[in-house]
Amino acid sequence: MSNFNHETVLSVHHWTDNLFSFTTTRDSSFRFRNGEFTMIGIPVNDKPLLRAYSVASANYEDNLEFFSIKVQDGPLTSKLQHLKTGDQIIVGRKATGTLVIDNLKDGRNLYLVGTGTGLAPFLSVIKDPTTYERFEKVVLLHGCRHVSELAYGELITEKLPHDELIGDMVSAQLIYYPTVTRDPFRNRGRITDLITSGKLFADIALPNLDADKDRVMICGSPALLQDTKNLLLERGFVEGNNGEPGDFVVEKAFAER
Ligand SMILES: Cc1cc2nc3c(=O)[nH]c(=O)nc-3n(C[C@H](O)[C@H](O)[C@H](O)COP(=O)(O)OP(=O)(O)OC[C@H]3O[C@@H](n4cnc5c(N)ncnc54)[C@H](O)[C@@H]3O)c2cc1C
Repeated sequence: MSNFNHETVLSVHHWTDNLFSFTTTRDSSFRFRNGEFTMIGIPVNDKPLLRAYSVASANYEDNLEFFSIKVQDGPLTSKLQHLKTGDQIIVGRKATGTLVIDNLKDGRNLYLVGTGTGLAPFLSVIKDPTTYERFEKVVLLHGCRHVSELAYGELITEKLPHDELIGDMVSAQLIYYPTVTRDPFRNRGRITDLITSGKLFADIALPNLDADKDRVMICGSPALLQDTKNLLLERGFVEGNNGEPGDFVVEKAFAER
């Protein structure tokens, strides 16, 4: 049996010149845990050209959703950005990854730290009822350069609070904190600076990070991962992974080539 399914693109949404999202059909055999990634791609010269992608839809949803960068000379995304409804894409049959709440010890508040397309895995984590059963507050931090890059804001603030399944939990427990570095906006600055200065906690009216109580998931550039990881290690947080739950988990949103 092939390691891949062929799925049909159902919708495409362009957020900016550099970011877009698309939904596809979902083979009923494709199972994943919220927060995981799989390999997706398209055939190029009759060979599959594949890249890792976080699944942005929740594991109970009928369709799959992906949130993608457009790298103008990128082997895959220079082509993928031209996807249209009805096109076919290749989707791996297996999903994997460390950004799953099973990899975290029990705790009080859960912080989801994402930059750019690093938001993608958290879109499925915030749709998971178990997230709200395990944690009191769920703080979703999305850092970008420009306001236009803060994709999915409307889904998070308008649609999810009215969702039949999770709406009540989202309304009571989810705190969304978008922040930008290069435009005027209500929240400004790098996520690590907002944590270090304490401004984040003053803004959201929660206590400062505490390794005994709080849990963190991080997905972003290799630099964000390193800076946030250092900040947590200094505060006594222990990294978790598959098989060994910890206080925080990390995943690259992309690899430098
Ligand atoms: C675990 C994992 C999960 C990933 N999930 C996603 C996802 O959900 N959405 C997504 O768009 N990409 C994701 N990526 C990155 C993805 O695998 C590809 O790198 C991306 O689609 C670009 O492919 P490409 O062939 O066009 O260019 P590549 O040759 O793969 O990348 C070229 C360069 O573009 C930059 N770049 C690549 N991806 C990004 C990105 N997402 N944001 C900012 N800069 C980037 C890097 O500097 C990279 O060196 C993930 C990567 C990993 C390792």
